[in-house]
Amino acid sequence: MRLLLSIATLSLLSGAPPAVSQTVHYTLAPEVSGGELTALRVEVRFRAGASGTTDFRWDDGWNGEHRLWQWTRDLNVAGARTVEQGADGHWRIQAAPGATLTVTYRVVSAYDHDPTVQDSDQARPVVRPRWFYAAGNALFGFPGDQESAPATFDWRGAPGIGFASDLEHLAGRSRLALRAGTVADALESIVIGGHDLRTYPAGDGSGVRVATIGRYAFTPEQLNDLARRVIAVERDFWGMDRGAPFLVTATPIVGDPTVISFGGTGRGDAFALWIDQRTPLDRMKWLLAHEYFHSWNPVRLGAMPEDRDTRPAHYWFSEGFTDYYARALMVRAGLISPAEFAAQWNEMLAAYAGSPVRSLPGAQAATAFWENEATQKLAYQRGALLAAIWNRRLLAASGGRANLDTVLHAELLAARSSSENATDLFRRLAARSGVRIDADEARHLVRGEPLRISEDTFGPCATIVTEQRPVFSRGFDAEATAAAGNVVTGIDPRHPAYAAGLRNGMKILERTEGEPDNALVPYALLVEDRGTKRTIRYLPQGAESIAVQQMRIRQPDAAECRRTLGGL
Ligand SMILES: [Zn+2]
Repeated sequence: MRLLLSIATLSLLSGAPPAVSQTVHYTLAPEVSGGELTALRVEVRFRAGASGTTDFRWDDGWNGEHRLWQWTRDLNVAGARTVEQGADGHWRIQAAPGATLTVTYRVVSAYDHDPTVQDSDQARPVVRPRWFYAAGNALFGFPGDQESAPATFDWRGAPGIGFASDLEHLAGRSRLALRAGTVADALESIVIGGHDLRTYPAGDGSGVRVATIGRYAFTPEQLNDLARRVIAVERDFWGMDRGAPFLVTATPIVGDPTVISFGGTGRGDAFALWIDQRTPLDRMKWLLAHEYFHSWNPVRLGAMPEDRDTRPAHYWFSEGFTDYYARALMVRAGLISPAEFAAQWNEMLAAYAGSPVRSLPGAQAATAFWENEATQKLAYQRGALLAAIWNRRLLAASGGRANLDTVLHAELLAARSSSENATDLFRRLAARSGVRIDADEARHLVRGEPLRISEDTFGPCATIVTEQRPVFSRGFDAEATAAAGNVVTGIDPRHPAYAAGLRNGMKILERTEGEPDNALVPYALLVEDRGTKRTIRYLPQGAESIAVQQMRIRQPDAAECRRTLGGL
């Protein structure tokens, strides 16, 4: 049976025409009506294969969206004999072998309003009257199996409409390529533009461009300046990519008064940020440092399992270490002060101490990763804590000659000629630097025993103390309340919130004081109670108490603190 199958496969293969790699030319243009943007126009030009049949299709999925062609309208093919549309985003094109085919279509907006915290989804194209944003996967179709074919790109603009994309790093009609591009690059790209686009070119030799739309709690100049500094610091850390083209884009999402929302996604030689208008610049430091570190971790440090269910078991490395370095590199470079460094760690340490899933065994945590925020955070928390612990141990084992940097730099080299998982490579290289991590992995990552860091984890400038404090509790069911449109649900009658007057059915308009996971600072909510607005202020403390580790800075002004806190 097996033999028969393989013969059948062979004859099928030999009967098929060889896949020819032909350059695919992409052109993008805005569609404008009465001065307002209405859609994006795409043209894809390529040659029909030797069989004359082309399967013109969209990427299988990105960021949870599997129907990436659904915003395509009025698709037309010039140069074809027949075009047949399948039900699943495939267009079957018949043409003379080698004929030039020009596919044109419009991509319409997935939104009839500005995206909000509740409905912003990075795969869905946005075309608003004054601006647009789209991911390449939702924008560009491609001929069948030609994902690795060379690709070029041109923007055919209109007066007054700005444009920025990492596709500009590829060759176009009037442009030399900064690097060779493929169809896969087009799919992994990001495009933004419109009347309101602000762009900051790569005039400083860094190759970095920044493009923003909308208004934020900071100026576009501040974001531009910060992005350049963060990128320079991380390129120096890895000793590579200096001068390489890189684009940072920022698009606005309409905020919710009760939460602050911001996020980003790496797109190869770009990353896309989605920021709500209330996000302070401080938060952007962490986000930029974290996201840009992903340009190396894990993609250039080894393999990661592709499978959606086993992959999260490796996030302690790809997310946790990235988090550790976001803070460490920022304090080393002076982008954050020792006090800010401690505040960021303390927020995380308090959240970890109060985490409902703190002791969850690794296999269960991986399965539950996509289900709730607490298990997602757990991977970051465990990984960052282990990074700090192992860094200290590496310093001790080597008499100060090696630390976590040493292992990661060795891993960058080793990964070039290895197909091993990044986590396996790390384990092997850490052992070579004198630290075996197997026992910690078994205890904390597999069995889920809570992690504790020792007093001197961050060197002589900081000490780790343990405090007994009440657990953080808002006094109501936060998830159910959010699901009910911020109408208070599940109030606890024994909680200080109840004593302060908060009741089920009140609508929360805004949180005006307080910090997530911090039981020690007052919480204040502006609520609407039967037509009247009032502020309810209370301590967000539950009945139980927990032990919380916290970092205290000893000599905030000492110059060497930036180094030692940063793990050097
Ligand atoms: Zn991340």
